Amino acid sequence: MAELSSILKQATGVIAARGEGVHLYDEDGRRYLDFTAGIGVTSTGHCHPRVVEAAQRQVATLIHAQYTTVMHRPLLDLVDRLSEVLPAGLDRMFFANSGSEGVEAALRLARQSTARPNVVVFHGGFHGRTVAAASMTTSGTKFRAGFSPIMGGVVIAPFPNPTHYGWSEEEATDFALRELDYLLQTVTTPAETAAFFVEPVLGEGGYVPANTRFLAGLRERADRHGILLVLDEVQTGWGRTGKFWGGDHFDARADILITAKGLASGFPLSAIAARADLMEKAWPGSQGGTYGANAVACAAAIATLDVILSEGLVQNSADRGAELRAALREVASQHKNITDVRGLGLMLGNEFRDANGDPDGATAAAAQQEAAKRGLLLLTCGAWGEVVRFIPALVVDSEQVKEAGAIWAEAVTAVTA
Ligand code: PMP
Repeated sequence: MAELSSILKQATGVIAARGEGVHLYDEDGRRYLDFTAGIGVTSTGHCHPRVVEAAQRQVATLIHAQYTTVMHRPLLDLVDRLSEVLPAGLDRMFFANSGSEGVEAALRLARQSTARPNVVVFHGGFHGRTVAAASMTTSGTKFRAGFSPIMGGVVIAPFPNPTHYGWSEEEATDFALRELDYLLQTVTTPAETAAFFVEPVLGEGGYVPANTRFLAGLRERADRHGILLVLDEVQTGWGRTGKFWGGDHFDARADILITAKGLASGFPLSAIAARADLMEKAWPGSQGGTYGANAVACAAAIATLDVILSEGLVQNSADRGAELRAALREVASQHKNITDVRGLGLMLGNEFRDANGDPDGATAAAAQQEAAKRGLLLLTCGAWGEVVRFIPALVVDSEQVKEAGAIWAEAVTAVTA
């Protein structure tokens, strides 16, 4: 009898039978408020009618037309449409299937176009699970352990993480920039440094926003040394943070941007967008893949963009995010073991610490389980699993936010009373 491997660790134990909007239904018909959205993927809600319609139409027309063999209309149309939302100057695109593949594509482009071997990543960052992406991931040893030797050429610099260091944002940013300069002087000389890879908000690492001064500092050093700034917007893109791109909060100007997750409402699709002069230096034919830019996924992505723009979902993310943050702050004010509520838009985390001030993954996990019992699905993140995160679909309304806040209050009370 075949069984699923225990390699897969499951957060909730729910067997999902059906999804609609912000709700999932299990096989017994029980309804859950899904504040996980497939790890920030189904931003238009489960099975949005316009996404379903576009995908169904495409399935009946052309499912797979391999893009290194023939081109297809949904991909060409998607590239056209993306120019409405891509940051200025990032007008050459490449497509793959997952965030990790997008990261690898950006890495390959950075190394080829600069002819430099090393990359700098920021401590606590998550970039994926393939070997190269895992080598660049520093949000938890579970993503790296037992996997050595991993890829070389990765230098880890501090991320300005105030609660981790116990400093103000100013202090954490000073430290991060000073250490970066030290690393460029002592470990990876600029002439051997291809790129900085950074998330606008640390995702799996604990929902810690970067800040304007830090990203300006990276930009300034990138310009000074001919290093590329790569924004990993896999989790932060497509309105998740209340602006279209997470980097928009910080006026960040990237040379390469990586997107996936919210891009196609659940169909596997990722993309990188880069400066034309960089893509021109890449080696022709060095990137590709059998399934990249699948026609159904591209059709779903176009419909996703239509829904996000026409339904005002970026603004909804900002507005409902503010309501959700207020509700979470209210809960935190009554429970001293929730020591921080942070994030942007509908990408919010609650940090748990114990009486000694140490990260408390056990209580966070218990609260998450109590919430699931009460019909609210949540995930944890952070190095110790100490952050419970809220990432509902961007179609969430005020009533659903209120309901989630009420369940969360009960769940936290149940574990910390
Ligand atoms: N980068 C970031 C910032 C992510 O959050 C993730 C996924 N959580 C990835 C890359 C990897 O994406 P995937 O799981 O689709 O490979």
